[in-house]
Amino acid sequence: MRALPVLFTGLIAASVFTAACGSVDTPSASTQGTTTTTTSGGVGGAGGSGAATSSTDAATTTTDASSSASSGSTGGGGPDIGQPSNVYPAKHAAAPKVVTAGGPVLTAPKVWPIFFQGDKQTIIDATTDFFAKIGPSAYWPAAVSEYGVGALSSGPAKQLTEVAPAATTDDEIQAWLAAKLNNGDPAFPVPDSNTIIALTYPLGTSIDLQGSKSCQAFLGYHSNITLNAAHGNIDVSYLVIPRCSMQSTGMNELDAITDTGSHELAEAATDPYPQTNPAYAQVDNNHIYWLFALGGGENGDMCAQSAGASYKDPQIGYVVQRPWSNKAAAASHDPCVPAPAGQVYFNSVPLLNDTITLGGGGQSLKVKGVQIPIGSTKTIEIDLFSDAATNGPWQVEAHDLNEFMGGQPTLQFAFDAPGGQNGQKLHLSITPTKANQYKSEEFFIISTLGNQQNAWIGIVGN
Ligand SMILES: [Zn+2]
Repeated sequence: MRALPVLFTGLIAASVFTAACGSVDTPSASTQGTTTTTTSGGVGGAGGSGAATSSTDAATTTTDASSSASSGSTGGGGPDIGQPSNVYPAKHAAAPKVVTAGGPVLTAPKVWPIFFQGDKQTIIDATTDFFAKIGPSAYWPAAVSEYGVGALSSGPAKQLTEVAPAATTDDEIQAWLAAKLNNGDPAFPVPDSNTIIALTYPLGTSIDLQGSKSCQAFLGYHSNITLNAAHGNIDVSYLVIPRCSMQSTGMNELDAITDTGSHELAEAATDPYPQTNPAYAQVDNNHIYWLFALGGGENGDMCAQSAGASYKDPQIGYVVQRPWSNKAAAASHDPCVPAPAGQVYFNSVPLLNDTITLGGGGQSLKVKGVQIPIGSTKTIEIDLFSDAATNGPWQVEAHDLNEFMGGQPTLQFAFDAPGGQNGQKLHLSITPTKANQYKSEEFFIISTLGNQQNAWIGIVGN
């Protein structure tokens, strides 16, 4: 599913980072003033200390750029964030992985664009052209081949004689689509297990997905139906692309369709049957909370909220979204692929050594985080890395998830330095101010250099 992005403005200069919540409220500017009065002398304190055991960097320090990075801090009483390293990437905790539940992926996916009566011909033509061009592009194998997905082809556009309903639900879509395919309706393809039905709804149709509304809570989703015994009970994948305005992100009507279309296609190919036989459907256990913050744990979701994930692919000719690559993430490169050419990737990774328990709803889940009782302060290490030399130090900030969702922050943050570069270690003091029902709070570490911005997610348990 494609969660609705929320433009987060105000706190982060030039930020285009977005979070996966339905709210579009702008966070209160007063949050800017919540820097704690925690003493910076706390850097050796409780949490972070055990972390700094990697002694590898010391031998490889560079001299020139570092002085500007930590200027004012080399004197004596200032923070000790170490020296930059020219060994790339510097050591940091492992990135999350999208993991399979064991279901199949599509080895020869074929997408069939379906439109309703009365939709604009220009949109039908361009969307069909997009579906035809995405398969043969370099984007497709870069995005999904590591998961075992094969070449993507597309069928001709099919425009139905029926008008789309003003409002429908996913249950109704499933029943309607199953009837069409089970009855061999000639407006639809003869399905097989590689079939992806791409239902592109026109403006004016509101879709309800288990109580969530299209364009308010989500921009699109994929799912599957199971055909009847006469059709071998096969599962068939389908996409639902509602017509949502994404003008706030600078996208026009067509961009919004192809951007969401690429996201759902990449997910449908790697997790074609989420209802009956899920495959690459979620994040590894230690990082499971990433999917709560990002609105989903499939490969599309893991990048959908990242700045710069959507771009106009020159080969395809349309806007697409980069999905998550476990391979690139494990190699400390930009996990959203294909990465922009010539880009140096950087990020700042919290060292989370505590096992914390996420509560709520009678379930409990153990993940790696930092345990801090409400009202107490603990300091953790933030390990900075890049996959090559950056053009100087990057700025590092922390924000809690509530804040991204437009609410009041419940975590207070204080860094010992405003930023740094590969090999340097910042120290972040965190104070949880208010408990919630999950007894945990997620936070984002945001790294910014020029117009590039990357995020990492951490979690506090209390
Ligand atoms: Zn998704």
